[in-house]
Amino acid sequence: MSQNDQMIVVTGAGGFIGGHLVSALRARGHRAIRAVDIKPARDWYQRFDDVENLSLDLNLKENCEAAARGAYEIYNLAANMGGMGFIEKHKALCMLSVLINTHMLQASVKHNVARYFYSSSACVYNAERQKTFEAPSLKEEDAYPAMPEDGYGWEKLFSERMCRHFREDFGVRTRMARFHNVYGPWGTWYGGREKAPAAICRKVIEAKLKGKQEIEIWGSGEQTRSFMYIDDCLKGISMIMESEIVDAINLGSSESVTINQLVDITEEIAGMQLKRKYDLSAPKGVNGRNSDNTRIRKLLHWEPDTPLRVGIEKTYRWIYDQYRARERGEAGVVREVAVEGQ
Ligand code: NAD
Repeated sequence: MSQNDQMIVVTGAGGFIGGHLVSALRARGHRAIRAVDIKPARDWYQRFDDVENLSLDLNLKENCEAAARGAYEIYNLAANMGGMGFIEKHKALCMLSVLINTHMLQASVKHNVARYFYSSSACVYNAERQKTFEAPSLKEEDAYPAMPEDGYGWEKLFSERMCRHFREDFGVRTRMARFHNVYGPWGTWYGGREKAPAAICRKVIEAKLKGKQEIEIWGSGEQTRSFMYIDDCLKGISMIMESEIVDAINLGSSESVTINQLVDITEEIAGMQLKRKYDLSAPKGVNGRNSDNTRIRKLLHWEPDTPLRVGIEKTYRWIYDQYRARERGEAGVVREVAVEGQ
């Protein structure tokens, strides 16, 4: 059997990164792909007719076993997650994603899966190291001593640990990447789970189309972050999965910007300037966070390199089209099927 005929399973395939990953695997010639998500298939951001699409709740062990049957590789991207507005208010829900990873790992042992990818997060890092706007970039070893983001971050750190021990004790070849803020088209841009780049694009578009002069920003706007474009994320996932890197590794851009600079870029793309209103009581996360890419550069001779301006422009255009379609009453267009190509 050629490698392209071996079964690859993507969980969370109805979501942002999972949908793109299925698309990329198809483009690379894989012919046996199983895409799994808890959402009904009509609500997936991207869905492909030549792929086995399953709607399953992966909190349940028996569903994980069905998902993993016959799998050669599993990419576990399913999680209950969102931007700061979501994870600060739904800590228990975020922690329950531990069931997905636990049951998928057990199913991987049972079905003798060759490789298992786990999507961790920069939220595993110790909050003490992210207190100032100028906080130094985060190195992999900064996750310990552990004091991650409450709820979501603890679940990610625990699940990383579980992947490690399933590798050491049961021989599952687990690979783990700590994603830092991923953005791009075909992701959440409204509804409460969206992250900063999509939320800012949407707010600027709304101001442009509705003739508003003002934009609301969560926090002081001085928080620093880095944002990784989806294409870099996909490339990194594939390189890490194929590598022998067994410890969790940063997968993020090291182009640090303040939220104000992110707004500057978006306004420039929109060709307008807005008055900024800062909501200091809104969820805003840590003050400073950036990815230290020393390790990925050393081990993979590569790091995410799409300039923020380039990625935001593509994301802005996509959200603009979605916004207009929604305005025209084309219900569900955001989550509608995108069959061949995107
Ligand atoms: P997303 O919310 O778009 O996708 C996650 C998908 O998982 C959703 O479609 C959701 O329906 C599905 N899911 C949730 N519970 C499930 C269940 N019980 N059974 C089956 N499916 C279930 O999020 P995303 O941005 O695509 O994130 C993918 C992964 O990457 C997640 O593990 C997330 O924690 C991680 N991550 C993402 C970012 C980012 O910036 N997007 C950053 C760090 C880590």
